[in-house]
Amino acid sequence: MIGGGDSAAEEATFLTRFASKVYLIHRRDELRASKIMADRALTNAKVEPVWNATVSEYITDDKGEMTRIRIKDTVDGVERELEVKCVFVAIGHVPNAGFLGDLVDTDENGYIIQQPAGTTKTNLAGLFAAGDVADHVYRQAITAAGDGCRAALDAERFITDLEEA
Ligand SMILES: Cc1cc2nc3c(=O)[nH]c(=O)nc-3n(C[C@H](O)[C@H](O)[C@H](O)COP(=O)(O)OP(=O)(O)OC[C@H]3O[C@@H](n4cnc5c(N)ncnc54)[C@H](O)[C@@H]3O)c2cc1C
Repeated sequence: MIGGGDSAAEEATFLTRFASKVYLIHRRDELRASKIMADRALTNAKVEPVWNATVSEYITDDKGEMTRIRIKDTVDGVERELEVKCVFVAIGHVPNAGFLGDLVDTDENGYIIQQPAGTTKTNLAGLFAAGDVADHVYRQAITAAGDGCRAALDAERFITDLEEA
């Protein structure tokens, strides 16, 4: 598991249900995760933290299956390899709204602002935002799907209003 936040700590703990060993690879020497999440991961005997490290290469065998990763120490630059079968990445989200340029209002992290709050409308009439691109809190499949339904209804009403105008 690569990352140091809540997601990485939570998923590292979860993976111990299936894996005999989980490396928790983080570029710093302490987790950014909340104390409870960090403690849960770090006190799990199957979780081995790998501090001050970034992954520089994923190494596969002839069949294309992962066998090792090369990691680089962020302090002294020394590289070494770890034997792993899978890698999971939890290093944060960047909402994919860049293609809209300056057309829509976004918050400081790039999430599209739904406005008025409680709708899927945006500052641009006729453009509706649904799902993770407008939700920095829940970011779940079911909330995104619900948002999609709300956006469809908002769009339908928008079109109806245009037709009646
Ligand atoms: C590792 C991981 C595990 C997860 N586990 C869970 C879980 O267990 N339960 C859960 O509920 N949620 C989970 N999620 C979250 C869930 O996947 C998301 O909340 C959900 O997929 C968001 O749906 P979305 O439609 O907003 O975005 P996405 O599913 O990301 O869909 C966006 C779509 O838009 C397309 N797109 C992007 N840009 C453009 C463009 N310019 N033009 C056209 N199309 C474009 C993309 O190709 C993509 O198909 C997980 C997410 C991750 C990353």
